[in-house]
Amino acid sequence: MRISEDRYTRDLKRIQLAQRLIRHEVRTQSICDWAGITDDRVRNLYRSYNSTSLVTQRHRGPSPKRLATFLRSPRLHTEASAIAGLAYVLGVIPAKPIPDARRNLPNVEVGERMCLSFEIFQKVAPESTLTMDQVILLVTALASGEELMVVHCGNCHGALLVDRMGLKRRLCRSCKRTSGQDSDGVSGSCDRSGDGPENILTPIEPVGNPQRTLF
Ligand SMILES: [Zn+2]
Repeated sequence: MRISEDRYTRDLKRIQLAQRLIRHEVRTQSICDWAGITDDRVRNLYRSYNSTSLVTQRHRGPSPKRLATFLRSPRLHTEASAIAGLAYVLGVIPAKPIPDARRNLPNVEVGERMCLSFEIFQKVAPESTLTMDQVILLVTALASGEELMVVHCGNCHGALLVDRMGLKRRLCRSCKRTSGQDSDGVSGSCDRSGDGPENILTPIEPVGNPQRTLF
C-alpha cells in the first residue's frame, strides 16, 4: 500500500511539473526530459490542458542552443544574469559542475525549482522576453561548467553572466552605464581598466548570496 502511494505521489509530481512546463510553453522533448514522462503523455496533457483552460502556444522545432546569444544582446545579457543569480540562490544550479548536464541535471525536484526561478523572475521583470526554453539552456550550460559562469559584478555585487574562457566583463551593464563605460554592447569587448589581483572575478556562491541589484 505504502509503495503504491509513493509511486502515485511521484507520478503526480511528474504530471504537475509537466503541466507547469506546458504553461511556460516549453518544447515537448524538454518536458519529457525534466518530468520523466513519454512524449505521448505530454501530447495528451497538451490536449487536456487546451480543452479545459487557455490555449498555450506549442513551440516546435529544435530548442535554442546558442549560448553566445546571452552575452551579445545587452537586454538578454542583463536578464540572463538576473535569472542565473536566482537559479543559484534557489539551488537549481549545483555548486560543482556535473558531467553531461543535459542528461544528468533534469529531474522533477530541480525542475520545480527551475520553474519557481522563472516565475519569480517574470514577476520581477514582466516585460522580459526571456523564454523558459532559454532558461533551460542557460541552467544546463551553467551546471555543466564548460562555457559560461556567473560571477559578482565588481561594483554592485549583483550576479553577472560571463564567458568562462574570457572573464572579460567585470561590471554589470547597469554599473557600466552609471560609470559611463557602457559603450560596447557586443560580446567580447571588455573593461580591463583596473584589472589586478583585487579585481579578479569571484564565482557566485550557490546559496545564501541573494541577488542585490537585478537591473
Ligand atoms: Zn553592477
